[in-house]
Amino acid sequence: MTREYLKKASLTSASDASDVQETVRKILADIEAGGDDTAREYAAKFDKYEGNIILTAEEIEAAAALVPDKLKADIQFAHANVKRFAEAQKATVSDVEIEVVPGLIAGQKAIPVDAAGCYVPGGRYSHIASAIMTVTTAKVAGCNHIIATSPPRPGVGVAPAIVYAAHICGADTIMALGGVQGIAAMTFGLFGLPKANILVGPGNQFVAEAKRHLFGRVGIDMIAGPTDSLILADRTADAHVVGTDLVSQAEHGYNSPVWLVTDSKDLAEDVMARIPALIDDLPEVNRENAAAAWRDYAEVIVCADREDMAACSDEYAPEHLTVQAEDLPWWKNRLSCYGSLFLGEETTVSYGDKAAGTNHVLPTSGAASYTGGLSVHKYMKIVTWQQATREGSRDVAIATARISRLEGMEGHARSADVRLAKYFPGENFD
Ligand code: NAD
Repeated sequence: MTREYLKKASLTSASDASDVQETVRKILADIEAGGDDTAREYAAKFDKYEGNIILTAEEIEAAAALVPDKLKADIQFAHANVKRFAEAQKATVSDVEIEVVPGLIAGQKAIPVDAAGCYVPGGRYSHIASAIMTVTTAKVAGCNHIIATSPPRPGVGVAPAIVYAAHICGADTIMALGGVQGIAAMTFGLFGLPKANILVGPGNQFVAEAKRHLFGRVGIDMIAGPTDSLILADRTADAHVVGTDLVSQAEHGYNSPVWLVTDSKDLAEDVMARIPALIDDLPEVNRENAAAAWRDYAEVIVCADREDMAACSDEYAPEHLTVQAEDLPWWKNRLSCYGSLFLGEETTVSYGDKAAGTNHVLPTSGAASYTGGLSVHKYMKIVTWQQATREGSRDVAIATARISRLEGMEGHARSADVRLAKYFPGENFD
């Protein structure tokens, strides 16, 4: 099947060669050895911050007082939507109890992790919404201790709106520590905190690498790379809306890929012609990000038909997937690889990013081929249990002893033998 690339990326996230791994390994080792003081030194070095690390109740109150009332109402609205959606997700996790064989009962329980560490990025933009997404979901899951950490601004501290959002969403502790030092403090239990059982939340390459490095010792939601977005649009799509949506996602960072996949060359050319003006119209920092992302990472692909468009999209497995095309039910049914799907022009990735209720912490760099995004389930352990009567133990013991001996595991076999001998004396089970 022929696909025509009207624009092809010159770079991919894999081309970001760097010494990030070594930098992160060293900072983690330093902080593990040096504890609180070393974490403070890194905060001073990277974020020029020497203030309080764990925010006090007075500091939280003072931050809240700086947040305008309208923004507070918006944060509360977004929190209510994310909470509602997370509660509906939690209702899908149920305990199970079945009689596997007569007399042997087995079950599953969903137990929330004790302590969740939520990373709220704040280097380039103040990601208020990341506080809402991670903390609210941990709270609904039922975690006992929720820590939110975010980079402090030099001499100022964490952005007041992030503090306010983390607080109303249910954070028990709010920390002013960014990057690797924030991740390290939550993992190693610095500053008197409980050690986090799971680390969640997006962040830059240093944050992602720190989570990857610590995985195993602590759980993680996923390794999130640069944000990516794909739009599927047919000839019925509005080129101005499609172009605006592509640019809106390219502003995330210089290396945030956006892809347009269409079966209409006319639409593709129309969108491409509009992009430069849409980028130019942004404020400076956003403009620089979007221009670089569009120049180096964006692609525009013309496919033969909608089936090929869907196949192409599944190959990219985008973090955010938008459909602006006819017959939305067909697309919803056909598409299978995405972090979050936005059906129709009336909704957009920005809604999901900020306030619609679905989570914005999503798999990037093709990881949507094997995982979904952050949900209450990521904070919950599905564990199993069993209990048997003596009679119910009989057949399982016989099978266990034989399988164990065949495997050469005599100790296991004897755990079964000892029960057979005790519960059914005099019987021969050979
Ligand atoms: P950030 O909070 O992730 O990183 C800031 C920290 O990086 C600083 O505190 C500093 O400690 C550390 N740092 C900076 N330079 C360093 C260096 N040279 N060595 C070691 N540490 C260093 O904020 P950011 O940089 O703005 O990145 C945010 C990221 O989160 C972006 O990539 C954005 O796309 C992503 N994001 C993703 C989602 C999503 O859902 N996928 C949502 C929001 C944000």
